[in-house]
Amino acid sequence: MARLLVVEDEARLLRLVERTLRGEGYGVDGCEDGAEGYERARTGEYDLVILDVLLPNMSGLEISLRLRRQGVRTPILMLTARDAVEDRVAGLDAGADDYMVKPFAFAELLARVRALLRRQSEPALATELRVDDLALDLMRHEARRGSRRIELTPREFALLEYLMRNVGHVLSRPQIVDTVWPQDFEGGSNVVDTYVHYLREKVDQPPFAPLIRTVRGVGYVLGR
Ligand code: CA
Repeated sequence: MARLLVVEDEARLLRLVERTLRGEGYGVDGCEDGAEGYERARTGEYDLVILDVLLPNMSGLEISLRLRRQGVRTPILMLTARDAVEDRVAGLDAGADDYMVKPFAFAELLARVRALLRRQSEPALATELRVDDLALDLMRHEARRGSRRIELTPREFALLEYLMRNVGHVLSRPQIVDTVWPQDFEGGSNVVDTYVHYLREKVDQPPFAPLIRTVRGVGYVLGR
């Protein structure tokens, strides 16, 4: 059963959409807050995310942008309030796969949902990231180095995933905090050093060659 996340702050519309989708047999989670929607969507546990554009705390565009920057490839259907070309272009630029203009017919919503889920189930989607002998299974949330299984906390996993998706590219501490930590995190970018330390303890121990490198004064890069 496909799992869908709907982020829509109009409570009445949210309930209607939830009911309609559940009626088709989908598993549906709804939320009315943008920041909360982002936190849920970034887990990657959903098969499809439906985002309203105007939301409290974080807009649908911002959510989409952040998810894509973080490498989350869950299909996104954007709900725009106006039939403005700029809105649609902005939505697609922000990484949305499709959009619908409100008010919409539920039959059309269901058709778009089916199309996006079909597209997503095509086999091109990578479920494993690999750099050297380090592998990250995105479905099972497991890391391996060679044949050794490595237990990671969700934050460590997110950090490693971000580094692996940007293999060979130096990432700055603020960039990492923006992507891997919640939007309202105020602990400063030193937390990155702490978590890179944790990751190295788990991932970069002998006999394996170190993969996470410090770039002095800039940040970190993964790759030999
Ligand atoms: Ca709204």
